[in-house]
Amino acid sequence: MVKSIFLAAASAFITHHLVSAQEGAFLPSAGSNLNYASYSCDPSTCIAPACYCATKDPPAGLSPSSVPQMVSVTFDDSIQPQLLETAYKMLNVKNPNGCKAKGTWYVSLQYNDYASTQQWYAAGNEVADHTFSHVGSPSEQEIVSCQRALNAYAGIPYGKIQGFRAPFLNYTTNTLKIIKDHGFTYDSSVSSAGGKNFYPYTLDNGLANDCWKGVCDSSLKLPGLFEIPMYSVTDGSGTERLMDVYLDGKPSDAKAWTLKTFESHYNGNRQPFGIYVHPAHLTTQAGGPDASDKLSAIVSAIQEMAAKKDVWFVTNLQLVEWMKKPVPASEMAQQPYMHCEQPDIKQEICNGLDETGGTTADNGLINSCNFGTTFFKTCFNCPSQVPTVANPVPPPSIAKGQSGYREMLPDNCDSKWWDPIAATCLCSSSHCEYKDTAVMVDNMNGGADSSSGSRSKNSIIVGKPQSSDTVKADAKIEVGLMVLMILYGWM
Ligand SMILES: [Zn+2]
Repeated sequence: MVKSIFLAAASAFITHHLVSAQEGAFLPSAGSNLNYASYSCDPSTCIAPACYCATKDPPAGLSPSSVPQMVSVTFDDSIQPQLLETAYKMLNVKNPNGCKAKGTWYVSLQYNDYASTQQWYAAGNEVADHTFSHVGSPSEQEIVSCQRALNAYAGIPYGKIQGFRAPFLNYTTNTLKIIKDHGFTYDSSVSSAGGKNFYPYTLDNGLANDCWKGVCDSSLKLPGLFEIPMYSVTDGSGTERLMDVYLDGKPSDAKAWTLKTFESHYNGNRQPFGIYVHPAHLTTQAGGPDASDKLSAIVSAIQEMAAKKDVWFVTNLQLVEWMKKPVPASEMAQQPYMHCEQPDIKQEICNGLDETGGTTADNGLINSCNFGTTFFKTCFNCPSQVPTVANPVPPPSIAKGQSGYREMLPDNCDSKWWDPIAATCLCSSSHCEYKDTAVMVDNMNGGADSSSGSRSKNSIIVGKPQSSDTVKADAKIEVGLMVLMILYGWM
């Protein structure tokens, strides 16, 4: 009983904070021109593929009925084996080309399991940055350290960690400037509330969403950086909800609201639609609340959407690819970024995939790294100490040359083809060649696992030292999160 009250309190706390960004004063619906309060964009000078105005009309003059209805299913916070199972249950539908539906995970690293993260990526899904220790208004170091640990322990190429979402959806104009400086492709932290369900657009003319937060002033111009608004779901009382819609009302209500809003996109201008969840709320864990009704409702909503022949479940990076070269639904299957071929490797290597036809990826090859409260699995070397935001990639616990040493992902191979034990790239055709042009160079601290001598230095990204104020604020939030994790039974 006591526990259930705590759970309810924790749930209310999380819910409030996770949806607070779309609560508050909504603006009236925007008009049909391109002036939204202080946002304005001139389509005669903002021209694709370099620049996109915020608009509700499909790009390239496509008629709405020909546009593929894209659905972006996103997951936030750490990836753990049980949470991964929940995500796969949700995405257990096929796109019209026969490939499995894909989703995007905004990963923060407290309690993150890197082997699971690599498996999610290897299956064709997107791994995106949600800061190292899950802080709102994040520092540059929070954002960069997350990328570095994802690269080192989950083998995600830097060039594939291209998306960002602010924890608690708490971003500032400075957050957007940082991710632009670091070469990200897009942000997806803003709300479409108030009728601002625009197609993804670039920030050449600033933000057109969330203007009530004071973020639409004309000084914020970040050419080429995409904003993918989070598309809200309207509930039975007309309130717009952004994340974890199923946390309010009965599961059947949440399903009905979701499908009704989806239909309004599908039968309207076919702006992308979104389902944004924290899979922890949909996963029944020992001693925790039974989430099976909520999960069933959301799975069934997704299955109904997938039954339409022009509905595509895409990652947010695939959505940006489509924006750059908009094609009608009839041509979607031919787009290379929608293909789903997997490496044809005859031996089991530690790459996030199961090569030998069993049921477990990387059977017997995964390292377990145990630091007490921090525990994770990885295909790469365990660090010699707990990774932190200040030191996200400590020296490995094993020296190069010793038996069992694993080589970091080099910048000329994608981790699906990289055998870290043999230190070999098993890609031998132009089809799978990969050259990471967004390689980050270690200059944030002296202790990184910089064993890979082939790392190019063509894109130097410098992390700034973190102020002590920021460190204190981070620590407070970490403690708060830990309390919630305990209440939820996540630890
Ligand atoms: Zn989060």
